[in-house]
Amino acid sequence: MDYALSEEQEAFRQTAREFSKRELAPHAARWDAEQLFPKDVLKKAGEVGFMSLYTPRADGGLGLGRLDSSLVIEELAHGCTSTTAFMTIHNMALWMIATFGTQLAKDAFAEGLISGEKLASYCLTEPTAGSDAASLRSVARKHGNTYVLNGTKVFISGAGATDVLVVMARVDIDGSPVPGPSGISSFVVPADAPGISYGRNEQKMGWNSQPTRAITFEDVEIPAAHRLGKEGEGFRIAMQGLDGGRINIATCSLGTAQAALDQAVGYVQERRQFDQPLADFQSVQFKLADMLTELVAARQMVHLAAWKLDQGDPNASLYSAMAKRFATDMGFQVANEALQLHGGYGYMKEYPLERHVRDTRVHQILEGTNEIMRVIISRRLLMEGANEVIR
Ligand SMILES: Cc1cc2nc3c(=O)[nH]c(=O)nc-3n(C[C@H](O)[C@H](O)[C@H](O)COP(=O)(O)OP(=O)(O)OC[C@H]3O[C@@H](n4cnc5c(N)ncnc54)[C@H](O)[C@@H]3O)c2cc1C
Repeated sequence: MDYALSEEQEAFRQTAREFSKRELAPHAARWDAEQLFPKDVLKKAGEVGFMSLYTPRADGGLGLGRLDSSLVIEELAHGCTSTTAFMTIHNMALWMIATFGTQLAKDAFAEGLISGEKLASYCLTEPTAGSDAASLRSVARKHGNTYVLNGTKVFISGAGATDVLVVMARVDIDGSPVPGPSGISSFVVPADAPGISYGRNEQKMGWNSQPTRAITFEDVEIPAAHRLGKEGEGFRIAMQGLDGGRINIATCSLGTAQAALDQAVGYVQERRQFDQPLADFQSVQFKLADMLTELVAARQMVHLAAWKLDQGDPNASLYSAMAKRFATDMGFQVANEALQLHGGYGYMKEYPLERHVRDTRVHQILEGTNEIMRVIISRRLLMEGANEVIR
């Protein structure tokens, strides 16, 4: 077992750190305040391969493993949580197209998404199907070589500003939609196809540098060649996308927690109360010690889950769920503790802590809530027992 990073991994991390310091960190507060989606910066990210991190090289992507991608994503999230989180969703959708798309679909969509000139959204959640995503009701009715899509998706990241949608819908072959998860197929759809309309930009607590909208599909025609995988494989494909997505969101929490901790370490050494720096109080020292310990523990879990996904380990989904639960809870807690250490200043927008708290909060909710992560973990544990199978 070797915990040291290779020279190549160090190089990717360094490139990401420089990009983050130059292109993300200086603008994050303004993007948040003005709700600006920095498409120009996403294009620059595409130029260095960050919009196609784990898309295979054979398909034109950077071709990194999930562990290497996590090293990059953590550095980017240190600079701007919200923009990086969008980049991870784009990466997930592109990976699904590259991995499960027909050559025709890849030729039509991949190139622009890899370069960052075009952006992608992942469309699973519906008004009545959130945690119970397999109960989704959007229907793709098959007519010869075409599907006709009807339905509504909600809370879609990037929607209205993206160019390509990966959509999960229930196939209807002869007038009755196929029930259950095996009735679901995935499709790639141009975001401006006739019949697609967008809701208002949702006003959110955080993640303000990216829009979130509902999408309505009304008789949207999709060529059969734009289906990802076989008919009925869509839910499995969506969940496979999310295994990596959960590691990515967990990683966004790591990067933000590190930024919050860095900020707190500097502040407690400068700020004086009772004639001494805050850092001289042992309770403050212990708080910092716990923050770092929990951050390092979460980072190890995320790296282990990413490594398992790279190895094709049958327990990769389980480890992704554990890493997502642990790291996103840790990320919110560390950001909140860092805010507390700043006292009233932490609550002011002049400092980045309140933004870190708002941005990390949603990581406990999306890509499967942390309660759903516990459902996945406990179901597996009770089925297998804590034996060799899940170690
Ligand atoms: C900012 C933002 C961006 C998003 N981006 C996207 C996106 O790009 N694409 C996309 O498809 N979706 C997206 N989502 C949707 C997100 O994945 C869902 O909000 C999430 O899966 C939860 O679904 P829900 O909101 O319907 O909550 P519900 O499923 O209604 O859950 C409500 C509460 O009940 C709990 N609960 C539900 N079932 C159980 C259970 N079995 N056991 C215990 N507790 C349970 C949940 O944990 C939660 O606390 C986004 C959401 C947000 C807020």
